[in-house]
Amino acid sequence: MKNRKYFDPEVEQMDRKKLEALQLRRLKLQLRRCYRTSEFYKDKFKETGIKPDDIQSLDNIVHIPFVTKSELRDEQLAFPPFGRHTVASPETWAELHPSSGTTGAPVNNLWSHTDVRNISHWTARTMWTFGVRPGDIIQNGFSYGLWVAGMSTHYAARELGCLVIPIGAAMTERQIDYLITPGSTVLLCTPSYALHIAERLKQRGVSPGELPLRIGCFGGEGGTEVPATREKIEKGLGIEAFDYYGLAEIGPTIASECPQKAGIHWVEDHLLIEIIHPETKKPCNAGEIGVLVITHLTKEATPMIRYWTNDLATLDKRKCRCGRTHARSVGGILGRADDMIIYKGAKFYPVQVEKVVRSFRELSDEFYIELTTDPRLDMDICTVVVECLKEEDIPKMKPLLRNGLKEACQVTREIKFVPFNTLERTTFKAKRIIDKRQKRA
Ligand SMILES: [Zn+2]
Repeated sequence: MKNRKYFDPEVEQMDRKKLEALQLRRLKLQLRRCYRTSEFYKDKFKETGIKPDDIQSLDNIVHIPFVTKSELRDEQLAFPPFGRHTVASPETWAELHPSSGTTGAPVNNLWSHTDVRNISHWTARTMWTFGVRPGDIIQNGFSYGLWVAGMSTHYAARELGCLVIPIGAAMTERQIDYLITPGSTVLLCTPSYALHIAERLKQRGVSPGELPLRIGCFGGEGGTEVPATREKIEKGLGIEAFDYYGLAEIGPTIASECPQKAGIHWVEDHLLIEIIHPETKKPCNAGEIGVLVITHLTKEATPMIRYWTNDLATLDKRKCRCGRTHARSVGGILGRADDMIIYKGAKFYPVQVEKVVRSFRELSDEFYIELTTDPRLDMDICTVVVECLKEEDIPKMKPLLRNGLKEACQVTREIKFVPFNTLERTTFKAKRIIDKRQKRA
């Protein structure tokens, strides 16, 4: 068992055609079930005049309307406590995992007993994917309770045959104690908490090289896929760091990196992943950045059909070097759809600027985009502010950066260099856009 490369060898290496046939079979069942038992979904189908049996291919899914978070909130208010999208009957319900409520009233999500089994199993698979093996000691620094990831990784640890320390996201000093003895080998938490633990470790004078800790997987917020953050976590804890993604409405840990670190692999036998253009609402071309739209293929209690996550990603359906056929999002989650900048008719995201800035060794990883209005010309100006490590490189870097940005975002911008270490350092969710444009009548 321990030397096995894949947790579910057959499913993970399934030929793409076979995998898509499985997805279609499950999708059809799910749609029929939702139509039959949920007034919420029945109304959605009515909107478009189609019936579940009209969906005969995976591409046909574009005919079904999206589900948004605000819609779920309204639904819950109108039909308390769980809304009419709750498909399974109450005696099958097992757990309630609401969304965090950071952007409004929390949305209630239910897991049935079957959902708990499926979620535990696919979470065990994602953990095996980044290298957890039976006998590992897992320090679970994801918070327990209502949040989706704490419980699912706990259940998965049991399925993997690991010892789990259910410490949650608290007690940093004790986190360090457990890293020393019994000596956890796997750490799970958010990337910012990993950096915090690394900082305290240093203050306690513990060298990461002395610890048995070998891998960590970090999710719940962006950061791990940012090379500078990953490097900081890896050095600070003496481990290999992997990226994890999940969200309350869909489920915890639904994608994780493999040892190739070539993007996060989706659990495609349970989910249908689409990348949709934020404005045209049509499917994006291969490799194009768009909004992640996710459909539950097997979820029982509160299934989501075409859930609009508002998170940006790309999708690569080619087989990975690790041998897995399940599609990957290279670079993980690339930002939020509301971060789009419209400037001189061109549309781009901070992540596109970030990629260009971070491709130059002469620049630091920090930058921001400033939007202002020149009152004399009544014209908008977009300036990218970056740090050059050595002042003498500025004349050389200016045209290089300008061309790189023009190529990536199809628009020319102003560039401003500031001395190294001027810009604020944040470990995640750094503010990349400062919009001071004057609103025109
Ligand atoms: Zn892979």
